[in-house]
Amino acid sequence: MYPSRFHYEAPSSVDEALQLLSVYQGEAKVLSGGMSLIPLMKLRFASPSAIIDVNNIPGLDGLFEESGQLRIGALVRNRQLIRSDVVRSRYPLMASVAPQIADPLVRGRSTLVGSLCHCDPQGDWGAVMLALDGEVIAVSASGERRIPVADFLLGPFQTSLRPDELAIEATVPAPSGQPFGVYHKLERKIGDFATVGVAVFLDRSGSAVTRAGIGLTGVGATNISVPAAEEILVRNGIDDHTIGEAARLAAEVAKPQTDQRGSADYKLHLVRTFVSRALQAAIGREPIDIRQRRFENVASLV
Ligand SMILES: Cc1cc2nc3c(=O)[nH]c(=O)nc-3n(C[C@H](O)[C@H](O)[C@H](O)COP(=O)(O)OP(=O)(O)OC[C@H]3O[C@@H](n4cnc5c(N)ncnc54)[C@H](O)[C@@H]3O)c2cc1C
Repeated sequence: MYPSRFHYEAPSSVDEALQLLSVYQGEAKVLSGGMSLIPLMKLRFASPSAIIDVNNIPGLDGLFEESGQLRIGALVRNRQLIRSDVVRSRYPLMASVAPQIADPLVRGRSTLVGSLCHCDPQGDWGAVMLALDGEVIAVSASGERRIPVADFLLGPFQTSLRPDELAIEATVPAPSGQPFGVYHKLERKIGDFATVGVAVFLDRSGSAVTRAGIGLTGVGATNISVPAAEEILVRNGIDDHTIGEAARLAAEVAKPQTDQRGSADYKLHLVRTFVSRALQAAIGREPIDIRQRRFENVASLV
């Protein structure tokens, strides 16, 4: 299907984009990677009167550490995140999730910030950014707002971004000790959205856990964090008891629905299993990449 008619705008500065957002008064949509917006328009689930394509705005593709945080510009693509040395060496959770999103073609265009703005309950970045205590930086004619991701993701395809705001960046606090992170995702086939995804992040100093984050995908109206489990891990460290508690608490906050990807009970089982395996991996008892386990199982059959 063809999209409805729309005006196409391609501003060359953030100021120009903000001016256009105020002219169209909530009737325009920002286009970053277009990997979700364009299919929605072609299906006529979205019929904005204008598209504001921000891809010509210089300076929105920065990806670097500065003043104790990682700054991810609104035009940083998933492919750039996969190839980044700083992400690979200092942000293992981000390095784990990025290659599991969609397929190479989609990853070449789609952006982390666009994914947060899209706020699909099956989106993987929401869980990761919750676990990492990320923020979105939004600008409008009235100035800049830093919005914690926990306050940004409101519900299915709903964020706290105002219609006159442009998200220009996401940030993540830099680790202070030895970071650990992994994203476990079950998908029906490569490139599928998650049946369930679980993001686990730890910052450690020796054996002490100084920060912990757990985020869930596909088991609620939006991505979900598990603060009670995070507190236990920081207070008591990682052992069999706290791993069991974290897995139990994660399943307690998850609210999965039965659908074509599986039953609610199956998804709860996955949440418990993935939280437990990720924390076991943090203490060296499980492989970090559980896909390795599948290959080992296959190898043992031949
Ligand atoms: C085949 C396929 C498979 C996919 N699989 C996965 C998957 O496994 N996991 C996953 O997480 N995602 C998946 N996606 C989604 C994709 O990876 C992107 O996360 C998603 O398309 C949004 O990023 P984008 O940059 O393309 O945003 P766009 O499509 O450009 O925009 C999405 C929404 O966000 C708004 N928006 C975008 N940028 C801004 C901004 N800077 N300021 C304000 N509003 C903004 C737009 O107006 C629009 O409403 C898949 C997509 C496809 C097509």
